[in-house]
Amino acid sequence: MLIDIDASQGEGGGQILRTSLALSMCTGTPVQLSNIRARRPKPGLMRQHLACVQAAMAVSGARASGAELGSQQLLFEPGPPRAGDYRFSVGSAGSCTLVLQTIWPALLQLDAPSRVELSGGTHNPMAPPVDFIERAYAPLLRRLGTDVELVLRRHGFYPAGGGELLATVHPAGPQGLQPVDVLERGALRRGHAESLIAAVPYNVAERELAVVGRAMGWAETQLKPRQLAPQEGPGNVLLATLEYEQLSEVFVSFGEKMLRAEQVAQRLVADVRRYQASGAALGEHLADQWALPLALAVHRSGRAARYTCSELTDHAHTNFRVIERFLPVRFTTEAAGSAQSVMAQPA
Ligand code: AMP
Repeated sequence: MLIDIDASQGEGGGQILRTSLALSMCTGTPVQLSNIRARRPKPGLMRQHLACVQAAMAVSGARASGAELGSQQLLFEPGPPRAGDYRFSVGSAGSCTLVLQTIWPALLQLDAPSRVELSGGTHNPMAPPVDFIERAYAPLLRRLGTDVELVLRRHGFYPAGGGELLATVHPAGPQGLQPVDVLERGALRRGHAESLIAAVPYNVAERELAVVGRAMGWAETQLKPRQLAPQEGPGNVLLATLEYEQLSEVFVSFGEKMLRAEQVAQRLVADVRRYQASGAALGEHLADQWALPLALAVHRSGRAARYTCSELTDHAHTNFRVIERFLPVRFTTEAAGSAQSVMAQPA
């Protein structure tokens, strides 16, 4: 069997490629992708995406054709994924976490741990920052029955990159992933904001944190400027971590050359407020990224699971449709007050 995916459907971005590679490896089913990023200003595979294809090839001994820069077609034929020691260089502007998320689902289903060293960007716009993976995403995966250790050895900001991330992926064990409902976040226990600064004036961090502190009603001890070595930059990232009884969420806003520090902070505060007002368990990014591991657990166990989220983006809807092509799992969604509710069930 060969699964044909039109990669320009829905959101039409790199996630269609990554989800297809991940589930092709998990199911041992070859996939043919066409129209990859066809509606993007620079269509086809960019370096970031090629790094995902190459990582997937290394982990599963796959054969691929069309694995070239700019290619809008890809045929990917996986072999059996193997646990092991891997090292991938994502290149200057590419995101380490997106490469990790491509191979993670295959690695966690094996019977031995894997060690994955990644170099590239650790804090890229439009990708999950390492802190989000560590504090928000990985704890949820642990609830499904699989563990991971992450060590951030060096920050890498877009566009210079140069970051180093080490991930040790532990297998889910003989039982496999077990689905869980994630319906509520519970009461807020703690919150804090960090501003990471590398080769950017220190007062940027102070100004960002002052705005967040005022808006959130946070004390000085909850506002943490962190000056990194200048050679890790240039870069500035503002993060808010909210620890609830049942889960944590991490929000991020990136400093940009022409953007005032106060505006960087206001963007972050707006994202946090939208999430808080929804009352949902997961924010918009967890909502799209949770779908794949949850679907594997639902398929494996034959049991349905649900979650609530603040928002269902095009990314989320498109991811549901791509996952449904590989696994006999159906996603259904409904509005639940100011939040959204998602159910994944065996088809
Ligand atoms: P794509 O745009 O198709 O390459 O997919 C980008 C992925 O990165 C999606 O899974 C997004 O949810 C995720 N992402 C983008 N921004 C963030 C963020 N600030 N925090 C967490 N995940 C993010």
